[in-house]
Amino acid sequence: MSDQAKNAFYSGLQHNLETLREQGLYKPERVLASRQGAEVVSIDGRTLINMCANNYLGLSGDLQTQEASIEATKKYGYGLSSVRFICGTQTVHKELEAALSTFLGTDDTILYAAAFDANGGVFEPLFDENDAIISDALNHASLIDGIRLCKAARYRYANNDMVDLEAQLQAATAAGKRHKVIVTDGVFSMDGTIAHLDKIVELAEKYGALTLIDESHASGFMGKTGRGTHEHHNVMGRIDIITGTLGKALGGAMGGFTSGRKEVIDTLRQKSRPYLFSNTLAPMIAGASLSVLKRLEKSTELRDRLHENTAFFRAEIERIGFTIKPGTHPVVPVMLFEAPIAQKFAARMFELGVLLSGFFYPVVPMGQARVRVQLSAAHTREQLEFVLKAFEQAGRELGILKTI
Ligand SMILES: *Cc1c(COP(=O)(O)O)cnc(C)c1O
Repeated sequence: MSDQAKNAFYSGLQHNLETLREQGLYKPERVLASRQGAEVVSIDGRTLINMCANNYLGLSGDLQTQEASIEATKKYGYGLSSVRFICGTQTVHKELEAALSTFLGTDDTILYAAAFDANGGVFEPLFDENDAIISDALNHASLIDGIRLCKAARYRYANNDMVDLEAQLQAATAAGKRHKVIVTDGVFSMDGTIAHLDKIVELAEKYGALTLIDESHASGFMGKTGRGTHEHHNVMGRIDIITGTLGKALGGAMGGFTSGRKEVIDTLRQKSRPYLFSNTLAPMIAGASLSVLKRLEKSTELRDRLHENTAFFRAEIERIGFTIKPGTHPVVPVMLFEAPIAQKFAARMFELGVLLSGFFYPVVPMGQARVRVQLSAAHTREQLEFVLKAFEQAGRELGILKTI
């Protein structure tokens, strides 16, 4: 490249970044000076109640989980400098895969460095141009990317819309597709909506389709014993493929997995590119994740506390006069509708000592701006009361409370 061509490249980037800033879409990083938890310390030394982490079970900064990671490091070392199939598989990886299979109610599980990789590597080895992927319109970016890497025909259905799903199943059947697979997030993270897995499984059985669910916002706390959306909807054992993350409820560091029938997992071990060509999960993460699963098998205490916190917060925030998306999930979208109000609100809450994230177009539809609250088992009742008071104050100041 001549200097001129190079300069055009860099100034083009600069211009695009400016545009993002002008549109209010630029995402700065918030720097924490503490560990993750119900309370965090921001870089300017202020203590904030954190209401925007995916730290559902409060394990990210948890000392017992930390201790398990240290123990695993002592036993297995820091890293492996290898992909899994060359010399990067230790007993701890096999134990974690077995524990995840037991937890999820499947035959076998394969680990990845992230759920993004699990989703990126699940479609291409299993489906080709003869097949149909029938995908929810609001599925996570990593599912969308994974589907793009595969040659199967794509059918999209409106979010959680069972009538449209059936229409798409009929279209794929009429097109003579060999295998059909319905793909959905178990829980949609912008709305806290739970996929209608009971109906999805019925439709899948009616049309001879497979089912794949991404349980990133469900594994560890949805359902009576926290196994996920399939347990919540009473369809354990009837979902073909489950993907998920170890980076949210199940510890919070990083890592992902795909779980299902043995022949699926064996095929992925032979052919899934992020598994074949990317490093093994660090032993400290495998060991800590294993300790988390053992803890969840023993007691539903963390899961129960999370749901108590969620029910308390959902009831109180409505009583104060805010509009929320109804539901039961610890993701609570507090609707502010207009983007500038959502921005102002999140900024005011920050001043009041509450860390929250605002979402507006294009992340959510126009006119649907919101702050998204995420409850954690780590929140105490006092902390939630503090947060509710701040909500009430900021809501009153901005004139957005419904008068009852
Ligand atoms: C967070 C998330 C992912 C990505 O998980 P990582 O392990 O961080 O890559 C994938 N799918 C869904 C639905 C998610 O919410």
